[in-house]
Amino acid sequence: MAETRNDKVIVLQKLDSADNDVRVVFYSLRGGKMILNARGAKKITSKLSAHLEPYNLTELMIIESKHGATIGSAVSRQVFANLKSDWEKLHAAGRVFFWFNKFIKAGEPDRVLFFGLLDCLTILNAIKAPAVYYQWLADIFLFKLLAHLGYQPSLSTCNRCHQPFGQTLVYFSATAGGLVCFYCSRLIGGQAGPDRLVIKSETRAQLALILKTKFVDIIKIAKVRPGIARDLRILLDFWLSSALS
Ligand SMILES: [Zn+2]
Repeated sequence: MAETRNDKVIVLQKLDSADNDVRVVFYSLRGGKMILNARGAKKITSKLSAHLEPYNLTELMIIESKHGATIGSAVSRQVFANLKSDWEKLHAAGRVFFWFNKFIKAGEPDRVLFFGLLDCLTILNAIKAPAVYYQWLADIFLFKLLAHLGYQPSLSTCNRCHQPFGQTLVYFSATAGGLVCFYCSRLIGGQAGPDRLVIKSETRAQLALILKTKFVDIIKIAKVRPGIARDLRILLDFWLSSALS
């Protein structure tokens, strides 16, 4: 016999499927990431469709039967209309959702991740700022996501010789997989770009502050400074791709 249960979900992605069905990827409070079928949601008259748009916070009734789980009903609780009507905000949220979806495995619920993602959407929806600030918030979210998943980079010791950083320059090295001291940077050699990027002490200090501050409090403390934002983006892109490989 079929059983039903209710869950709060954030809609991550809508996938196409055959006939009038739609497959939807969610991050749910109780069940973690899941993919469910919404029967007939493609039909223009379907009541489900509008509640299953990406970025929505939706209340789902899930029907579990021997044929698997399907969506019984869906009611949006928050649709983040400001975010969806602003291309720059959508671009930042899209970056967050793309990586979130890549990193999070199915069936591992985590309240910190659920409410973190909800905070990210709520803040992006509410604020009015230059586009660079939205991207900055997305980057901060992703740094914190990586740290939460156990990919926290070492900011105070060299990734190669493991000595604490002193007063000399600190470099980012793709070859060494993180931050290295002046001496190791010289030993590694390598190309000027990927192995010789100087990471200023302000950049490391900013990242350390980001990692220890709750996401909802970030907007009170973190200021965008273009040079630091650029260096952090290079570090973030590297850590995102190396964490997946
Ligand atoms: Zn070293």
